Formats: sequence, structure tokens, C-alpha cells
Amino acid sequence: MDLTWLHDLPPFNKDELSREARLGLGAARHMHDAKYVGNDFGYGVRELASHHSRDERTIRRWIRKAHDELTREPRFCKEKQCGARLPLGARTSRRYCDQHAGNAARVQRHRHPAKTRRARN
Ligand SMILES: [Zn+2]
Repeated sequence: MDLTWLHDLPPFNKDELSREARLGLGAARHMHDAKYVGNDFGYGVRELASHHSRDERTIRRWIRKAHDELTREPRFCKEKQCGARLPLGARTSRRYCDQHAGNAARVQRHRHPAKTRRARN
């Protein structure tokens, strides 16, 4: 598994990552700093798996997730006039920022102009 992507990361806010990606980033940095690369990679993964009491596949999945979230193209809120950047760990199906993802904003988008009806008295 290649970890050279760790070198080229732009500044980022770790809090935006999903929990798994945060764990994966920690694992990847640990592997990288301990020079568990090439043939020693498997050894490093086993060590981390035992440390976290998890399966080796889980550790590898965390690292892949960290890689994916940290190297993907930035995505932006689809609401007109907003364009806020979505968090790094946002699901790929997510289209709106926090402000525009809520129920109120959703209703607003789908609401037709209300027909005014004369009140009966
Ligand atoms: Zn927005």
C-alpha cells in the first residue's frame, strides 16, 4: 500500500473527516513514520490491528478511507448562491451544506408559489 499521498496533502481540518478516515490517517502516519512500507507494511498493519483489537482488513479500510477523503476533488453545496465547500468526509451522495441540508431548506426548494385564497368570513 502506497503512503506517499501523505506528503502532498494540502492543509485540511481533521474534524471534517469521517471517524474511520481519522483513524486511517493516524494509522497511515504511524506506518509511515515507523517506516512500515514495502515488505514491512503487512507487519505494521498486524501491529495496528492488534493495538486496536480489529481485523487487519479494517485497518486497511481505514487507511483507504483516509486516502479517499483527503485526496478527492472538493465538492460544493448545490444550493443556488451558496457554493459552500462540503466537509471532506461528506458522503458522496451528499449535495448540500449543513445550512441547506435541513428539512426547512428542503421544503423551501420544493415549495410551489402558494396560491392565495380569499379568506371566508
Ligand atoms: Zn449551502
